[in-house]
Amino acid sequence: MKKLMAANWKMFKTWDEAQTTAREIVEMAGAVLPEDRELLVLPPFTSLRGVSKQFKSIKGFSTGGQNFYCEEEGAFTGEISPRMLTDAGAAYGLTGHSERRHIMGESDTLIGRKTAYGVQSGLKIILCVGETDDEREKNQIEVVLKRQLDLGLEKISRKISPENISIAYEPVWAIGTGKVAGEAEIVAAHTFIRKTLISIFGNNGNKIRVLYGGSVKSSNCGKIIALDNVDGVLVGGASLHGESFSEIVLAKR
Ligand code: PGA
Repeated sequence: MKKLMAANWKMFKTWDEAQTTAREIVEMAGAVLPEDRELLVLPPFTSLRGVSKQFKSIKGFSTGGQNFYCEEEGAFTGEISPRMLTDAGAAYGLTGHSERRHIMGESDTLIGRKTAYGVQSGLKIILCVGETDDEREKNQIEVVLKRQLDLGLEKISRKISPENISIAYEPVWAIGTGKVAGEAEIVAAHTFIRKTLISIFGNNGNKIRVLYGGSVKSSNCGKIIALDNVDGVLVGGASLHGESFSEIVLAKR
């Protein structure tokens, strides 16, 4: 299974800024991306087409949308559909990010509908799950992960090709805080997620990528991707600069 090294640019970068960072990434990682890695950038929608164009002919590089709504088209002001993302060059789509859950108020049910619709529309979906600080304090990590996985994956076919869905474990308290989960905590959560995926999808659950996200940077990435059941990373802050994201992508295990 190739490691997926993903950049989530969130609500950062104008068109020009995105083009510059994409160019830096192509220059630094384009020719030297190891065979066992895939590189993904999730830019803001306004820059998606430009970044996709730069990545188009580069092996192992792809782009995706940070969000979408679960309809093909219609009266949904402010929303964007998987069809429009694909048209702008995206191969991937993100669902369930903690900022969508906690700032925009997206429910597990809506996230489940979006995940299923995204897959059905031909996007490769990365479903994010993870507990808050409060839930961690109360020892509810597994309860939360189980609920988010069960409802997030509820509506997708049990026969799905495993490369079309990935899970990102992102403990909310580790996002943008500089606090990385400890190695034992990451392994425990990823092992639990793997078991849950096997209980849902049978043997295919072994082939679904489980990424870690939350304060990943070049200095800790190598260790993180070497851990059991860690099949890549989802990076926010440290992905905003071409050099630091390229270092992450090329980090030695
Ligand atoms: P961070 O964000 O790397 O800045 O912690 C990760 C994410 O939100 O996906």
